[in-house]
Amino acid sequence: MIRTKELNLKNGSRIVVIGGGPAGAFFSIFASKLAQDLGRKLDITIYEKKIFDNQGALGCNMCAGVISESLVQSLALEDINLPSSVVQSCVDSYYFHTQNGNIKIKSSRIQQRGIATIFRGGGPKGNAGKDIQSFDEFLLHKAVEHGAKVKHIFIDKINLNDDKPVIYAGERLQNDCDLLVGASGVKANSGKIYEKLGIGYKIPSTIRATQSEIELGSDWIANKFGNSIHIFLLRIPGVKFVSVIPKGRFITVSLLGNEPNVEYIKMFLAHPVMKQMLPQGFKIPDKFCHCFPKINIKGAKNPFADRLVLVGDASSVRLYKDGIGSAYITSKAAAHTAILYGIGKQNFEKHYLPVCKNLDADNLFGKLLFSVNDFVSYTALLSKGYFRTIQQEQADLHKTTHHSDILWDMFTGSRFYKEIFIRTLNPRYILNLLFTITSTSLLDMLSIQPKK
Ligand SMILES: Cc1cc2nc3c(=O)[nH]c(=O)nc-3n(C[C@H](O)[C@H](O)[C@H](O)COP(=O)(O)OP(=O)(O)OC[C@H]3O[C@@H](n4cnc5c(N)ncnc54)[C@H](O)[C@@H]3O)c2cc1C
Repeated sequence: MIRTKELNLKNGSRIVVIGGGPAGAFFSIFASKLAQDLGRKLDITIYEKKIFDNQGALGCNMCAGVISESLVQSLALEDINLPSSVVQSCVDSYYFHTQNGNIKIKSSRIQQRGIATIFRGGGPKGNAGKDIQSFDEFLLHKAVEHGAKVKHIFIDKINLNDDKPVIYAGERLQNDCDLLVGASGVKANSGKIYEKLGIGYKIPSTIRATQSEIELGSDWIANKFGNSIHIFLLRIPGVKFVSVIPKGRFITVSLLGNEPNVEYIKMFLAHPVMKQMLPQGFKIPDKFCHCFPKINIKGAKNPFADRLVLVGDASSVRLYKDGIGSAYITSKAAAHTAILYGIGKQNFEKHYLPVCKNLDADNLFGKLLFSVNDFVSYTALLSKGYFRTIQQEQADLHKTTHHSDILWDMFTGSRFYKEIFIRTLNPRYILNLLFTITSTSLLDMLSIQPKK
């Protein structure tokens, strides 16, 4: 019988992490903490090409910057409390702008800590103030506090020499290690360096979003946008939906369309519904911070091998939601596997892969939920009835808020999609929804306005 070799991390073992975004920082923090609890010290080096304090694309990891309620709480339990210099706004509600009108949704379950909005880098390009602290820099600094070293170098080649991974930058050998952690995300094209290893790794499928940052002033934003994330379901041709996230004196406009295109942002800002949210005479600046980052929409294949594991976006994430929360989940699972069970392929297969598969399986429910949401939004009769149901629920949060909670959980990413899907099947609430849809359409036919 062939015995598979046992690969373990020992005191002083060397770990190289490629990528110092959330996944790389989380892995380093969890691995150091756990090793320390077991009386071991690890030698961890993070290779990160960006300096996150920089403004604009140079320092930014390009995302909408919403830290979910569940992640804010999980971080607090890990003793990672986001300081006010990192948190740009605290969100307690979602505001939906639809063809049928506007509605603000609050969850009856929202906890004290709420949802945080952050900038991944040092803020939009040309931002004059010094009041923005990068979220990614904050996390990276936490990893350093736990003993990791950071080198700002771009890694372009990996070899699995004599089993031990070796990394290169511009043909120059940088380091060899006992364990290599791929936390390089999907936004750069670094996934190819793992594909070339012949371990069966396949880069996740992605789509590109369109995103921009607009400065409107903190007073204007506080008055007009309040503590809400605004979701616009306006049926603009080619645009699925737009989220507007308040961040101090800026708003981040994050848009999912048929293709990445800055013209969509211009069309959105000129739309009569959005125009009402902008100062009178607002003109779109000639130059404004915008980008077309990739979103992981389908997990990677084989995100591990002997002495190698991929985490965060480079592995599996939750569909459209809480990518940073997914980086937390996969990095923690990979760190636990490496420290408690070993760093062999079979260890990752047994203890890490199920976590990735759970996320991938949950996304199938997510896809279904978003398809139903699209169908309802685009079917006038259904969307009116649904809108009315949510209106009734929001009028009294002490009564049942079943449908509002479903919408809240879908858009905030606070719950797993499978759990949300199961809740949608409750016959009592389906009947209640059907009743409201039928009565709304009857009132419509008779042209009677329902009582608010
Ligand atoms: C438009 C958009 C909006 C989003 N909004 C949200 C949101 O509101 N909330 C949320 O939770 N998630 C959101 N996400 C998802 C979120 O951005 C990701 O899930 C998250 O950043 C994944 O973290 P990561 O560390 O795996 O990858 P990344 O954040 O991409 O970090 C990877 C790091 O690796 C570095 N790197 C890459 N290759 C190399 C190399 N070869 N050498 C050295 N360094 C390298 C990069 O510079 C980068 O710093 C959004 C994504 C997009 C595209």
